[in-house]
Amino acid sequence: MKQKTLALACALVISAFTTIASANITLIHAGKLLAVPGEAPASGQTVVVENQKIVEVRDGYVSASEFDGDVRVVNLKDSFVMPGLMDMHVHLQFELGPHNDIDELKMPTQVMQMRSVHYGMKTLMAGFTTVRDVGSSEQEMYALRDAIDNGWVDGPRIIAAGGVGITGGHGDVSGLAPQWMELLDTPNVCNGPYDCRRATRRSIKFGAEWIKITSTGGVLTDRATGTGQQMEMDELKEVVRSAARMGRKVASHAHQEDGIIAALEAGVASIEHGTYTGKAAIKLFKKTGAYLVPTLLAGETVKRMAMESDFMSPAIKQKSITVGADMMKNFGAVYNAGVKIAYGTDSGVSIHGTNAEEALLMHEAGMPAEEILVSATINAADLLGMSDSIGTIEGGKYADIIAIDGSPLDNIAELLDVDFVMKGGKVYKNQ
Ligand SMILES: [Zn+2]
Repeated sequence: MKQKTLALACALVISAFTTIASANITLIHAGKLLAVPGEAPASGQTVVVENQKIVEVRDGYVSASEFDGDVRVVNLKDSFVMPGLMDMHVHLQFELGPHNDIDELKMPTQVMQMRSVHYGMKTLMAGFTTVRDVGSSEQEMYALRDAIDNGWVDGPRIIAAGGVGITGGHGDVSGLAPQWMELLDTPNVCNGPYDCRRATRRSIKFGAEWIKITSTGGVLTDRATGTGQQMEMDELKEVVRSAARMGRKVASHAHQEDGIIAALEAGVASIEHGTYTGKAAIKLFKKTGAYLVPTLLAGETVKRMAMESDFMSPAIKQKSITVGADMMKNFGAVYNAGVKIAYGTDSGVSIHGTNAEEALLMHEAGMPAEEILVSATINAADLLGMSDSIGTIEGGKYADIIAIDGSPLDNIAELLDVDFVMKGGKVYKNQ
């Protein structure tokens, strides 16, 4: 019986193989395989990868001799193998620190662009094979995404969100002398529904796959304008509507509950941070099916920086300490209430490549390891509308696969040390 199944499976693989002349097979021998987060891991499995995609998962360690042509075997018999991690909130063009303002003035755009390639690689090497970049320097972000897609440079798969903000709000320039702020004014800042419709369409025109808005004030805006709602309902609704007309979803940064509720009522697909999500917002999250992207790591980072360094202005410092502490304090209750969570760090506020630290914070706040892994794979793929192509190790999906020494289900901190990274069938790290 076993032999028959094997022969049949072989025949299937070989027939698929022979139809593609340049097929390139990789067999991953996985000691423990978590093919579908949320389900139990299996022992002694083989993942069959052909070019960029997974063909199938088979029981046991399948030998290379069962295949014709160019077959590579990756030995991960001592490892825990799982789908590549996904971070739904990064800023690859930026990293917070005492030199931001001076970088903005002195660093050529081209150098910043090269730096983002470096940040992208740090992210990929940490096991994050897909990220949603929620913006900073847009043309550079789109260029990095396209260069990675074309295989010109290495990096994670980037889903790029163009920012739309309002004058003086979080998302508009702040903290500089008036002449510099005027110079840095962008056409993506809008006022009123029609103008925000224009800004949304413009962002899509130049390459945005998502729209990122800021319905409330933000911690790193250098103005004492709080963290409550800033965008008006008519603006929020118009952004979501004009984005949807062109097939784009909207993510909204939001801290206070009034702005979370307004954004959810307008129809956004995800709330970023969601610090003060209360009962009314939880109800709306469940009604709309929107995801919360918690970014606890950002909260912890700004809180630590506010207390340990002196580069923050008084306005930023005050918000960092309050919001940073509250984010962590409130998250557990929101998770326990059944809000859908998609993994996101706000890397760029935190250090690029430390994306897995978010998992430790989520765990500390009371989220089980199994659910954290789901949030960083299946849920993230669902939020992106990419469940058909990424998020699990199953036939037909991109071979985005990572390996670590021990099981993160037993010890979530194992995620901090990813030893093997494959993205789209290409091995980027194997140590
Ligand atoms: Zn952010």
